[in-house]
Amino acid sequence: MANRPAVLMQLVASAYAVAEKAGTIVQKVLQSGELGIVEKSGANDLQTLADRLVQKSICASLSKSFPKVTIIGEEELPAEAVEEDLIENGQSSLILQKSCPDQYASLKEEELVVWVDPLDGTKEYTEGLLDHVTVLIGIAYGGTAIAGVINQPFYNYQVQPMGAGASLGRTLWGVLGLGAFGFQLQEVPDGKRIITTTRSHSNKLVIDAVQAMEPHDVIRVGGAGNKIIQLVEGKASAYVFASPGCKKWDTCAPEAILHAVGGKLTDMHGNAYTYDANVKHMNSAGVLAALRNHEYYLSRVPQAVLQALPSN
Ligand code: AMP
Ligand code: MG
Ligand code: MG
Repeated sequence: MANRPAVLMQLVASAYAVAEKAGTIVQKVLQSGELGIVEKSGANDLQTLADRLVQKSICASLSKSFPKVTIIGEEELPAEAVEEDLIENGQSSLILQKSCPDQYASLKEEELVVWVDPLDGTKEYTEGLLDHVTVLIGIAYGGTAIAGVINQPFYNYQVQPMGAGASLGRTLWGVLGLGAFGFQLQEVPDGKRIITTTRSHSNKLVIDAVQAMEPHDVIRVGGAGNKIIQLVEGKASAYVFASPGCKKWDTCAPEAILHAVGGKLTDMHGNAYTYDANVKHMNSAGVLAALRNHEYYLSRVPQAVLQALPSN
């Protein structure tokens, strides 16, 4: 008789199915034309009906199947019953067939923490920059981001006509020690420095840090998930965000996928973030991530940036 898959692989397999359902919810809310936009801390910090429905869907679905896992979602929502049609019970059979890396094979539900960003790139979603949008489900153990699932609901949305070879949306996933899947790993050509950074949360520190990298090109796009996808697909060589603003749910899943393919995500000092359940949500010392040559980008961070962003 085949062994029952490890808890971690079951959780990743469920997160995959849940993220795919989340992607369809994000698509449907857009089609409905009623985004239900609410400002949180200000005009650059938005929540839509899609953020709310997806968070309910992900949290209720995962806590139903994994009641002992700690799940932390971005949105503060009233505690209320979740409609049955938001619940996803499925699991990716492909993921269930993969063997769990030895070091995680005996992890228990209660040791895992899930960080949920139901919709990353909300500002861009409301502005029609649809390929910037992702759904992020990160899994942490012992403070480390060990697995992640990213759904990109509008991947291929500009392909016309849709059909042979192209379909709308995709899901990327990865586990440390196993690798990352759902995309083709590519690198920016050697020696070329293409920096990806925020488009809607910029400030002087962000600009100064980007310029200090001596970039050949700068790409300004929304979403932490989207920017990590650019790193692993060879569109950008480093993600530089020298500012507070990103939170643990923004970086957990992207970091796990990046690390699963040999990349590195840290704060602007080169220190790792931790993802225990009780950790501070804000990534106060910014984000510095690269698939290769992280040490080069770290060596270029200006002293003034380091002083302005204390590490903790
Ligand atoms: P961005 O690169 O600007 O799309 O930011 C990546 C993630 O961090 C998104 O989820 C943003 O909402 C969040 N974020 C970054 N800076 C801020 C900020 N100043 N206020 C609120 N959210 C922010
Ligand atoms: Mg986000
Ligand atoms: Mg969000």
